[in-house]
Amino acid sequence: MDVVRRRLLGGRDSASARPRPQRPPWALDEAEFTTTCRDCAACIPACPSGLIRTDGEGRPVLDFSHAGCTLCGDCVRACPRGALHFTPEAPAWDWKVRLTETCLTLQGVVCRSCGEACDAGAIRFRPRIGGPALPALDPLACNGCGACLAPCPSRALVRIPAELREIP
Ligand code: SF4
Ligand code: SF4
Ligand code: SF4
Repeated sequence: MDVVRRRLLGGRDSASARPRPQRPPWALDEAEFTTTCRDCAACIPACPSGLIRTDGEGRPVLDFSHAGCTLCGDCVRACPRGALHFTPEAPAWDWKVRLTETCLTLQGVVCRSCGEACDAGAIRFRPRIGGPALPALDPLACNGCGACLAPCPSRALVRIPAELREIP
């Protein structure tokens, strides 16, 4: 398990007690979000992809185990408190995806599931001699939608917030 995955899971070398929750898009900054969201759960049934669950305190977090976020904005429109707040100039979030060492292609297995799921074209496969093509993720093209996570048979892709992305 690499350093990033351990930190996200709150492992032994965790830089902080708990990783930042994966809130719905256009959420206020985490501190502001937790004081603005009143746990009304209005956003949960609004999500056509069924991504939104509640954390231990009743606030919404995203579960990418079966689908990615389409950035449709339905959760934002459903929030009566403005804890999810769309502004045209603001990005939906500062999360992006990273490839980790459990990718099957590194073990010689042919797999392109993540690339096929990425509508943004952020994952390209580089042919190589003597083994299957290796995925390469363009962090500038990745919008953090998480659509590539569920199709990956080896859970090799992780969503990472901006404050953890400087870790190699
Ligand atoms: S933007 Fe749409 S798909 Fe994404 S979490 Fe909100 S309602 Fe669900
Ligand atoms: S999270 Fe990034 S790499 Fe994954 S499908 Fe979305 S845009 Fe593509
Ligand atoms: S879906 Fe997973 S195992 Fe397959 S190429 Fe992508 S990262 Fe590797």
